[in-house]
Amino acid sequence: MNGFPNPSATLRRLLSPRLDTCLACGRPALLGASLPLLCRRCAALVPWITEPRCLVCGRAQGCPDCLRPDAARRAFTLNRSAALYDKTMREWIAAYKYGGQELFAEPFSLMLEQAYRRMRSELSARSEADSAHADRTVIEKRLLSRFRHAFRSDAWSADCVTWVPVSAERLEERGFNQAERMARRLAKHMRLPAHELLARTRHTGKQSFKTRAQRLHNLNGAFCPAPNLDPRIFKEWDLIGRTKQPGGSFPIRILLIDDIYTTGTTAAVCASALQRLEERSGRPVSVYSLTLARS
Ligand SMILES: [Zn+2]
Ligand SMILES: [Zn+2]
Repeated sequence: MNGFPNPSATLRRLLSPRLDTCLACGRPALLGASLPLLCRRCAALVPWITEPRCLVCGRAQGCPDCLRPDAARRAFTLNRSAALYDKTMREWIAAYKYGGQELFAEPFSLMLEQAYRRMRSELSARSEADSAHADRTVIEKRLLSRFRHAFRSDAWSADCVTWVPVSAERLEERGFNQAERMARRLAKHMRLPAHELLARTRHTGKQSFKTRAQRLHNLNGAFCPAPNLDPRIFKEWDLIGRTKQPGGSFPIRILLIDDIYTTGTTAAVCASALQRLEERSGRPVSVYSLTLARS
């Protein structure tokens, strides 16, 4: 070897398109046409939720959950998810969280970005949203009136991105917080500030096999505002509030990122913890949940 690149190999590389191994199926293919690191075939498997039927939790099907009497008291305004939690998403999320395939953060954060853009245009279009509510039931209307401010006629956008924290034990075991990684990428792409606002008070174990009541009992008090929050965050919020609505009490819109939305308990409990920041920031806080998959 003389240290110079082999001219015929260089030429070959220039002439033939570069094939890489798809992160999901492992086959050599041209990657990234629609989602980074994925082949076209795998990217086409994503069960996108483009039109949520439940305006509260973003479910693609009809939703008895959000019509329960206790649902109106949930501390978050609404949830939107990028895709359904089907077999494909289950496999990919498991590979990301437990299988060491951390590169899934790339396609996943792009999926969140697309869902965020959709959410932004949905919430910005108040008049359309209102006319879509015309045929809704009394309970649905009551729920919707709770977050009427979300459908302001001016453009909606998040003011701050944060994520559901994992316990120290989980962090040790996995080496990273899967939600934080996606949230930070999303925030960077969308040029939004990202802050670690929440902490876990204790390890809560797996939620997967628990009922709604068990989940709530298990998670109650499991989150709190992160200790030693930088006071500059609240200065930033104040500036945002004063810019968006001079002289008013503009609510800071926090986008809470997680991987899976199941019953909404985690989002609700985290949102309550985030609302404890109202006192310190002197501003109302509205929490919007954005998740990768909706079961
Ligand atoms: Zn593939
Ligand atoms: Zn719902």
